[in-house]
Amino acid sequence: MGGPINQLLTMHKNTPEKFWKRVDKRSPDECWLWLGPLNEDGYGERFYVNGKRFQVHVYSYTISVGPVPPGLQLDHLCRVRHCVNPKHLEPVTCKVNILRGVSNAALNAKKTHCPKGHPYNSVNTYLRRGLRACRECARQRNREFSKARNKAVPRITINGKRVRIYPEGWPNHKTA
Ligand SMILES: [Zn+2]
Ligand SMILES: [Zn+2]
Repeated sequence: MGGPINQLLTMHKNTPEKFWKRVDKRSPDECWLWLGPLNEDGYGERFYVNGKRFQVHVYSYTISVGPVPPGLQLDHLCRVRHCVNPKHLEPVTCKVNILRGVSNAALNAKKTHCPKGHPYNSVNTYLRRGLRACRECARQRNREFSKARNKAVPRITINGKRVRIYPEGWPNHKTA
């Protein structure tokens, strides 16, 4: 590619032809993947034309369909962030894009099961700090906690038997 300085010198001469050379263009319905570098969010790095900076999917849409209407942003219908197939891009409002996105909030609202696979149904669900939480997981955490706590109880051997010595005020234990 000739190094960064050469790229700087040539980027104002970029053309749609040069753009498509950097795209794995497939059949009309498939994802067309950007072959150039990706940014840390997985989107294609920017493409410069006449000193103007474009995100690669925005550039693809612009030269294939037209400019993105003001106030709207392009949503990847295929969820493949470095795809530049204009058929997979739809201008939507920022709000719609966030709702559709694979953001945590959207995922969380759609979840039917907790991360361990217990159902979020009316019996097994409670609200913790405004978020849904799993009762079964809470029960398991409590059990683990009790186990760990019991392990911490000192033991002594009396007449060949191991006996737990509960310190004074040990929670949930009646020292008769
Ligand atoms: Zn796609
Ligand atoms: Zn659970």
